Amino acid sequence: MKVLVINCGSSSLKYQVLDMTNEVLECKGLVERIGMDGSIITHEKIGMDKFVLETPMEDHKAAIGHVLDAIQDPEHGVVKDMSEIGAVGHRVVHAGEKFAESVLIDDEVIKALEECVELAPLHNPPNLLGIAACRELMPNTPMVGVFDTAFHQTMPPESYIYAIPYEYYEKHGIRRYGFHGTSHKYVAERASDILNVNLDDLKIITCHLGNGASVSAIKRGKCIDTSMGFTPLEGLVMGTRSGDIDPAIVTFIREKENLDQGVANEILNKKSGVLGISGVSSDFRDLEAAAEEGNERALLALKVFAHKVRFYIGAYIAEMNGVDAIVFTAGVGENDIGMRDIICNDLGNLGIKLDLVKNKVRGKETIISRDDSRVKILLIPTNEELMIARDTYNIVNA
Ligand code: AMP
Repeated sequence: MKVLVINCGSSSLKYQVLDMTNEVLECKGLVERIGMDGSIITHEKIGMDKFVLETPMEDHKAAIGHVLDAIQDPEHGVVKDMSEIGAVGHRVVHAGEKFAESVLIDDEVIKALEECVELAPLHNPPNLLGIAACRELMPNTPMVGVFDTAFHQTMPPESYIYAIPYEYYEKHGIRRYGFHGTSHKYVAERASDILNVNLDDLKIITCHLGNGASVSAIKRGKCIDTSMGFTPLEGLVMGTRSGDIDPAIVTFIREKENLDQGVANEILNKKSGVLGISGVSSDFRDLEAAAEEGNERALLALKVFAHKVRFYIGAYIAEMNGVDAIVFTAGVGENDIGMRDIICNDLGNLGIKLDLVKNKVRGKETIISRDDSRVKILLIPTNEELMIARDTYNIVNA
C-alpha cells in the first residue's frame, strides 16, 4: 500500500509518497508561496532530476491539486491513478489533551482539532486546511491525523502542571504539552532497534536540536518529560526562540521599551535564541564561523545553547534515575560535530563518554560513544514522514 504524507504550513506544503510494503520513499516535494504571487511546486521522483513548476495556486486546495497531478504524472509520478494511494497521513501540530495517539480522521476528529486552534493559532489552521482539501479531492481515501503533541501525553501531571492557579489549567488548558513528539518517538524506537534492546528496558534522552529544539525523557518507551511546554517557546535556547526565561522579564522589558504584547511575542519567538545573543545568525554554521574568527558573542551563544542542553540532560537523568542512551537528531544534532562535543564534554562521572573520532560524522545513523561508555550516545537522523506513514498504514490496516 502507498501512503501520501502531507505537512501543511500557512503558505507552504511538504509531501511524500512512501510504499509501505517495504517502507521505501518514492517521491517527495514542496509547494511554496501558496496564495501569493509566484506559487511554485518542486517535485522529486527519487532517482530522477527535480521537476519545478511555477503556476498560480490561490489556496491549499489548488496546491494539493498540483501535488496530486505531480504524483500521477506519467514521467515524474509514482502512481497511475489515485486509487493506488491507500491512505493519506496528515501532520497536525496540536491535539491538546484530546489524542494521545494518531487517529483515523472523521468529522468528530476535525471538530476536536478545531477546538485546539486557540492553542496553536499559527499551525493548526493550515493543518486543517490541508485535511479539508484532501477530503474534498480524495473523498474515498482514508485520512489519518498524526500529532506533534500526542507522544508527550504520557507525561505525569507533575511534569505538565505549571505552578500557577490550577483553574487556568481547568478553564483554558494551560499546561505543558510538548512538541516534536513524532521525531522523539521515531528516534527512540530506532535507538532501541540499533542497540537491540527492548524499549521497555531502556531509559533514553532524545535531543531534537534543530532551529526549533527540544529534549525528551523516555522511560520504557513512554515520554515522562519534555522541554517544550504550553507552546514551542519553552525549554532549550533555539535558533530564534528564547526558551526558558524568568517570566518577569517580559513585563519588565515591555515597560522599559514600551512594547505592545505582539512585539514582545515577536521578540521572544523571532529575535531571541542564539540569534539574539550573538547578533550574528540563527544558523549554527554561521555562528561557528564567526566564533572561529574571534566573535565573542557568537561563541557565547554556542556556549549558552550547550549549557541548556546539558542542564536538561542532567535533569532527565535525575528524573529517570539514570540513562542508557542519549540520541542526537535534527539539523544541529545530526550535523554539528563541535556542538555534540561541547554538550557531551566532561560527563564521564555520569558514564557518558563521547568518542571524538566516531563523532566526526554527519547525518548518518551510528553510535558515537566510546566502547567503555556506560551510556550509549547515538546519532539518528530523524524521519517524521516515515513515522507518519507508519502510523497511517497501521491504523488503516487495523
Ligand atoms: P532543522 O530545523 O532540523 O532543519 O535544523 C536547521 C539547523 O541545523 C540550521 O539552522 C543550522 O543551524 C543547523 N545545521 C545544519 N547543518 C549544519 C552543519 N553542517 N553544522 C552545524 N549546524 C548545522
